[in-house]
Amino acid sequence: MQRRTVLFLLVCLPFLASCAIVPWFKRTPQQTQTQQAPAKPVPTAVTAKRAQVLMGTMVELTAVAPNEILAQAALSAGFQEIRRLEALLSTWIETSELSIVNAAAGHEPVGVSEETFALLKRALEVADYTEGGFNIAIGPAARLWNIPEAPRVPSDMELEIAAQYVDYRNIHLNPTRRTVFLEKPGMKIDVGGIGKGFAAEKAAAVMREVGALGGLVAVSGDFRVFGKRADGTAWPVGIRHPRRDGTILATLDSTDEAVSTSGDYERFFLQDGIRYHHILDPDTLQPARLCQSVTVVAPDAGWADALATGLFVMGPVKGMALIERLGFGAVIVDAQGGILVSSRLRSRVKLTP
Ligand code: ADP
Ligand code: MG
Repeated sequence: MQRRTVLFLLVCLPFLASCAIVPWFKRTPQQTQTQQAPAKPVPTAVTAKRAQVLMGTMVELTAVAPNEILAQAALSAGFQEIRRLEALLSTWIETSELSIVNAAAGHEPVGVSEETFALLKRALEVADYTEGGFNIAIGPAARLWNIPEAPRVPSDMELEIAAQYVDYRNIHLNPTRRTVFLEKPGMKIDVGGIGKGFAAEKAAAVMREVGALGGLVAVSGDFRVFGKRADGTAWPVGIRHPRRDGTILATLDSTDEAVSTSGDYERFFLQDGIRYHHILDPDTLQPARLCQSVTVVAPDAGWADALATGLFVMGPVKGMALIERLGFGAVIVDAQGGILVSSRLRSRVKLTP
């Protein structure tokens, strides 16, 4: 997970205004009602909302529950779950399971928890689906670019060396012993492209267990929604315009699904007029160039997060074909600014004129 600078966090406030996806609260009730069946308000439901910095980014939780105590308990449990997963998965925390796996690269397999194992298994599945576009072995290259902490363009020689350590097929999972082994010393797993979605999924499940009837988990640009809002309507989600700061590209009403966006507009730097951003093409170890932004709608936030990153690398043509094959949804802004919407989302997504 990326540890962002304090400056970045300040820029991120108010928390949703600068996230890749923002809830679209400004629509009038009349507009909402023309688009869906009359809403059934949840009887005497209350809504509670809280934001906290976790996983190096702003996390915002909203809970709808029969009473204030349950709503607050759901929020606390959700944050607690994300904090727990951060301690397990963050490669910025030396004692995390993944840091221990990375430190043992080339030496020995490391036993991990069921959750860490499940996350890595999922990540390798998505790597296969995206033909290697999504690649958690990208660690050594991501460290070289170091976006946004201390960004610079690495030399060809540095990238050539890093290229020897970024093959995800050299990550070996042993399901019987539940161990992870990185084949070469110098390899480093980086779950920056899947960890936030994975955590959002778990947090939503915990909030529901505690008694929330509906909720929204927003971990930066990774959203997981469940149930309805207190007035019985779906959760309106906005997708940011990748080139017009503070402008919404499109909106969709969402319930019981995940919506994740990966873009080149939030963590980047400009040098000699060229935009260098944090999603790397594993083949070149340069920033991926085929998209400006990719939003994926999927039943699970771990899938949505990883696929958004992977599709960004694959590009609009291959990426959209994959989404159609999986039966998920996507909104892709290609390198020229063209907007593509997958078949399942065409009737749901409203593009901003
Ligand atoms: P964000 O973290 O801004 O929500 P993403 O979900 O797209 O955006 O994840 C980007 C992060 O994933 C990078 O900061 C880096 O840690 C990691 N990463 C970069 N390139 C890749 C890639 N090709 N595959 C998997 N992870 C990547
Ligand atoms: Mg991602």
